[in-house]
Amino acid sequence: KVRVRFAPSPTGPLHIGGVRTALFNYLFAKKHGGDFLLRIEDTDQNRYVPGAEDYIIEALNWLNIPYDEGPGKEGDCGPYRQSERKELYKQYADQLLASENAYYAFDTAEELDAHRKDHEAKKKTFIYNWHNRLKLKNSLSLSKEEVQAKIAAGDAYVIRFKSPEAETLHLKDIIRGGVQIDTNVLDDKVLFKSDGMPTYHLANIVDDHLMNITHVIRGEEWLPSMALHVLLYRAFGWDAPKFAHLPLIMKPEGKGKLSKRDGDKMGFPVFPLQWKTAEGDLFAGYREDGYLPEAVVNMLAFLGWNPGTEQEIFSLEALVQAFELERVHKGGAKFDPEKTKWFQHQYLQEVDNATLAEQFSSLLKEKNITTTLDLPFIVSLLKERSTFLNDVWDQGSFFFQTPSSYDEKASAKAFKPETPELLSEVVTLMKGASDFSAATLSEVIKGWITAQGIGFGKVMMPLRLALVGEMKGPDVFDIAAILGKEETILRIENAVQ
Ligand code: GLU
Repeated sequence: KVRVRFAPSPTGPLHIGGVRTALFNYLFAKKHGGDFLLRIEDTDQNRYVPGAEDYIIEALNWLNIPYDEGPGKEGDCGPYRQSERKELYKQYADQLLASENAYYAFDTAEELDAHRKDHEAKKKTFIYNWHNRLKLKNSLSLSKEEVQAKIAAGDAYVIRFKSPEAETLHLKDIIRGGVQIDTNVLDDKVLFKSDGMPTYHLANIVDDHLMNITHVIRGEEWLPSMALHVLLYRAFGWDAPKFAHLPLIMKPEGKGKLSKRDGDKMGFPVFPLQWKTAEGDLFAGYREDGYLPEAVVNMLAFLGWNPGTEQEIFSLEALVQAFELERVHKGGAKFDPEKTKWFQHQYLQEVDNATLAEQFSSLLKEKNITTTLDLPFIVSLLKERSTFLNDVWDQGSFFFQTPSSYDEKASAKAFKPETPELLSEVVTLMKGASDFSAATLSEVIKGWITAQGIGFGKVMMPLRLALVGEMKGPDVFDIAAILGKEETILRIENAVQ
């Protein structure tokens, strides 16, 4: 059974790159009838940011990407927070020590730094592996007694992986194909620290194994760790999962990785939800900016993947059907703020008028506006011109507020000496009309214009300006019908006073 996991470290808010990783894992799992797990990788206490885990869960909930197992949703492989599994990892580090795939190292940070500087001076890079191992302070260079004495004395140590010398690894990535790595370039990475905590590498492999993960789908920044991870599986004698590394998300200009700060610069969120840092900096979020989660999901799906057809609008279910890891590309995926708006516009059109009217009504309430007007009809007229709920207000505030001024340029063009007379005839026609529907008003007034040979603009422009205050909005007779006879006539009379 396919089992995948999203394994964020709670070191801050999840940005859209992380959400994309979660989404692709989810899509792959559901496509294959598998499980999608959330595992919180919080072994690095120094980088722990309070609130980050809640943020991750809230973001996944908002986007409708539910996990089958994870914090708050216990399955057979819990707990799903690494800090709650910490007792577990030591035995695995010991297992690698016993099989001589790992060793103790006692070098202090200062000593390692000195080695690094030394190498730099000789224009070399210091790699802690078979090149240097025997010249350094570790259980491969020291005697058994020395090692035991140090541990007994409480000296700080780490447990390092013993990476093999001069071996060419043939790794396979579902997206990238074959990747060859020469083990000579690998560091003997730290697996376990004397504070009793595993490092990311050890905890990640142990948990993926214990949680029966079949596919590791993660960001490209983890590609360099793949060799070590595969070697770790081999050292444990476990089957390695399959790997797929997703392309980086690039700035809209295409050069460089999209960063947290880019959102501010572009006036565009790079986070699903708003986030306030401990220092009080506020990062914008898609949710608070008025995006629909479906639009954000659809946008994210296209960051590095495409269905190979012209189709662009995909519900989550449709994505599950269409998604294939093999169709994810290797090259960086350019983040496109305008395209995101386009998706949002498309999805707003799909919201039914009653629902949109309800949301719009809350927005009116916030503005202390009470109204008896037909909101579902109003939103149906304004939707097409709107990308966000706020646009509905910008497009249609005149329905709720009598114009107090008129657009200057437009009035210079529309209000002519003969306008008062023409509009007063319009008022007479309106009063005499058999009903106040848009169809009747249109018929009566247009009929009169045609019969008199006046020219449409001479009547329609000042009429629109009188009702709206600007030259915008839906059909002017629709507007009049919605406003009703009394308000319409009042607005016309105000305008020609
Ligand atoms: N904790 C790692 C991260 O924050 C997980 C990487 C992985 O998926 O292996 O991205």
